[in-house]
Amino acid sequence: MTEKCGVVGVSLGGRNAARPLYYGLYALQHRGQESAGIITHDGFQQHSHVDMGLVGDVFGEDDLDQLNGAAGIGHVRYPTAGSVDSSCAQPFSVSFKSGSLGLSHNGNLVNADEIRDELAGMGHAFTSDGDTEVIAHDLARNLLDADLVRAVKRTMQRIHGSYSLTIMHDDTVMGVRDPQGNRPLCIGTLEDGYILASESAAIDTLDGELVRDVRPGELVVLQEDGQGFDSYQLVDLENTAHCFFEHVYFARPDSIIDDNLVYEVRRNLGRKLWEESGVESDVVMPVPDSGRAFASGYADAAGETTPSGEERDERDDGVEFAEGLMKNRYVGRTFIMPTQDERERAVRLKLNPIKSTVEGKSVTLIDDSIVRGTTSTQLVQLLKDCGAEEVHMRIGAPPIVAPCYMGIDMATREELIAADKSVAEIAETIEADSLAYLSTDAVADVLESDRIDLCMGCVTGEYPYEIEGEETDREVDRPTIGEGSIPADD
Ligand code: SF4
Repeated sequence: MTEKCGVVGVSLGGRNAARPLYYGLYALQHRGQESAGIITHDGFQQHSHVDMGLVGDVFGEDDLDQLNGAAGIGHVRYPTAGSVDSSCAQPFSVSFKSGSLGLSHNGNLVNADEIRDELAGMGHAFTSDGDTEVIAHDLARNLLDADLVRAVKRTMQRIHGSYSLTIMHDDTVMGVRDPQGNRPLCIGTLEDGYILASESAAIDTLDGELVRDVRPGELVVLQEDGQGFDSYQLVDLENTAHCFFEHVYFARPDSIIDDNLVYEVRRNLGRKLWEESGVESDVVMPVPDSGRAFASGYADAAGETTPSGEERDERDDGVEFAEGLMKNRYVGRTFIMPTQDERERAVRLKLNPIKSTVEGKSVTLIDDSIVRGTTSTQLVQLLKDCGAEEVHMRIGAPPIVAPCYMGIDMATREELIAADKSVAEIAETIEADSLAYLSTDAVADVLESDRIDLCMGCVTGEYPYEIEGEETDREVDRPTIGEGSIPADD
């Protein structure tokens, strides 16, 4: 399972935006490692540096020095729609009759092809097969006969899917979040300006203060003098569809998303996991790093109550928390490995058990998710090879049964182990002594959200957008694209 993209945008009082954007992108590097880019505007013209690679490799001193201007946007990308090459690297920029436009996109449109076909029929030439270029062209076309706010609104009425965008029109920086708020986006204040970022950790990195999340369906326009921002609620829907996996896996634990500190959410999910499916064992240990906060919450709860919910006796310490798997930080991510065989080898390269922590013990291993089951199988085997008597697995999210169409590279249905296996069958496959997942209700409870205000498509198979061949869990209106569909001015 791989992350999506990270976006950032700043408008400062006077100093160049390039360095704050660069540090902001560094803070968001976990959201995408394929390409990185920054576009700035100095009041007269746009400056751009976009390339394949990690932030630290893409930008040198000289690159940052030539990115003049107090306004700018940035992007780190993991490919979710479009080719894996530089034509889809972002921010995407276009020049048109009334100025220049830059766009950074996190998410995935589900009707990009329809809009691309329509625009291509009207003479728009596309240079990539990505959905971000579709948004850029649609917006550029709308800007020919509408002001900025109306133009953004018209585009929002046509695109369907998940998007958090930072946009730069000449030297005006804006942020837009899709009407269901599927992807995160927040606003922060800096010493001399304002910032928009996928996660608040980017704001912290710049010594800024989180102001709030951008609301679903909201357009935020940063003032060019860095003194404030203007808000326009362009689309209002009854329900949101926040991606619950942002909290479970994607976001940094030190980020605050939709008013929740991700670290606390993970700890509370771990506590729920104990309440729902706690098992007495000698030691509880996380799969590093993803399972750590879950395991700490689980172990805390296990110190307070028994698996049946009774308070523990003062002399009963519950379950010991231990770091029993050590991570080799210099091994690349397993998804880089192209074959199943290499992926299996990568697990053994990456994690090494501390024998004394597991030998002769019953171990509860905590992770945030199981995708294909390859890693879990390897880990159970690894612990048993090291002398663990029992290995119980507990997962801080419900089983992943379906793919994600909103920008997460999650594997296909055929590859997902839970798509066609029961929990008992998965336990048998990964050779765990027991296996349990968290319920969808527990996730909604911890996020203090109604179930219908979350996207849980990958664990229920019902999506918050209208996707061909899939079920939806709500009334959604997929916009009609085609002749006569361009919205009238409003
Ligand atoms: S399908 Fe899953 S990963 Fe994708 S947006 Fe919805 S909750 Fe997030």
